[in-house]
Amino acid sequence: GKMGRAFVYVILGGGVAAGYAALEFVKKGVSHGELCIISDEPVAPYERPALSKGFLLPEAAARLPSFHTCVGANEERLTPKWYKEHGIELVLGTGVKSADVKRKTLLTTTGETISYKILIVATGARALKLEEFGVTGSDAGNVCYLRDIADANRLVDVMQSCPGGNAVVIGGGYIGMECAASLVINKINVTMVFPEEHCMARLFTSKIANYYEEYYKSRGVNFIKGTVLSSFDFDSNGKVTAVNLRDGSTLSVDMVVVGIGIRPNTGLFEGQLTLEKGGIKVNGMLQSSNSSVYAIGDVAAFPVKAVGETRRLEHVDSARKSARHVVSAIMEPNKTREFDYLPFFYSRIFTLSWQFYGDNVGEVVYYGDMSGSTFGAYWVSKDHLVGAFLEGGTKEEYEAIAKATRLRPVIEDLTELERQGLRFAVTV
Ligand code: FAD
Repeated sequence: GKMGRAFVYVILGGGVAAGYAALEFVKKGVSHGELCIISDEPVAPYERPALSKGFLLPEAAARLPSFHTCVGANEERLTPKWYKEHGIELVLGTGVKSADVKRKTLLTTTGETISYKILIVATGARALKLEEFGVTGSDAGNVCYLRDIADANRLVDVMQSCPGGNAVVIGGGYIGMECAASLVINKINVTMVFPEEHCMARLFTSKIANYYEEYYKSRGVNFIKGTVLSSFDFDSNGKVTAVNLRDGSTLSVDMVVVGIGIRPNTGLFEGQLTLEKGGIKVNGMLQSSNSSVYAIGDVAAFPVKAVGETRRLEHVDSARKSARHVVSAIMEPNKTREFDYLPFFYSRIFTLSWQFYGDNVGEVVYYGDMSGSTFGAYWVSKDHLVGAFLEGGTKEEYEAIAKATRLRPVIEDLTELERQGLRFAVTV
């Protein structure tokens, strides 16, 4: 093969976590030529959440370079020029096709061998395909997924090809909900189909979900719950014309958006590193079972102290914070404590906006006005506050629920907590 290059640090994957790690490396004084980032995407790291929000707007849509990392955390925007100026080798449009953790080498799709002293795996995850559930048709011209820029561009093209048309959104999680909202804003009629009883089933209670479903219905979204897609009908050009559901119904469509979950990109390391929860298992220093290999972001399964177990989180805040932490752990090991992360998830849809902190286990206490614009919930487990949700809060109120959840106060009386509502978090 080609001649190889050698670096002290290599970040494998060029997504959110890679961008935040690069900024932290520079802050901590990495030298020119020491750090390399390899990504199969053709662009420098960017804020992936923008793809289902600003990117899909009918007017003044967000486009690169406006949302390169780290603008999502109100930090510097790292353009390709920035990487160059800081002596960071950005190898774009290049996949890694195999890794050898014993020899500390990566083999790229261009035939180059890149070696490292320390590897940070930040390969994220890929969208699950319908084929993995026994349905064919993912390749049809009007079936869209949404994980990267190429997907997002395609979704915009398909959307623009059927103004006023009908879309079916498969899946009631983040991607489904955010894409449905964007489609409506683009004046496309939306039917959402998912097998669960309500949307956002992994996080929301039925009561919280109901609030969002009612809002979506008021914006014209139709819900078909408790069933799944069984097959597509195609026209002679291979475009999907109808969606057949397992409950026997058929929906004619101009386009389909699929958001049925993700699978972490661990393939390169199977049999080489210990895996857990579908991801690369790491310790509190984000170090894997091989001491030269670390993992961050969606692909990492790390000990989440706040919930007392190892988890893999598929959220941007965890990607950003694990990225910062791993650089401290590598560059300043003696000054760095174990990663102590409080899970934080959020979404912005239409004019709605919610945040969630902690863990959604135990008893749920609701507060606020669920027919209005601000309401929330607390989760109480073993007499402690362990989770908090808030829709329509102010910056200060979100900070308050985050702080309250982190403190894990003892809750003796659920009725009293309900009576105090948001005031409990603000005054704790
Ligand atoms: P990624 O950002 O996915 O980056 C991984 C990178 O590695 C990619 O560039 C990939 O191409 C590359 N790669 C993988 N394998 C290889 C290989 N073998 N060789 C070379 N390169 C490779 N989270 C929230 O909390 N709130 C939100 O509102 C939100 N919205 C989202 C909207 C969308 C459309 C999507 C897709 C995700 C959203 N997320 C959201 C999730 C969030 O974006 C992810 O948690 C975050 O991007 C994870 O960062 P990462 O660096 O681990 O992975």
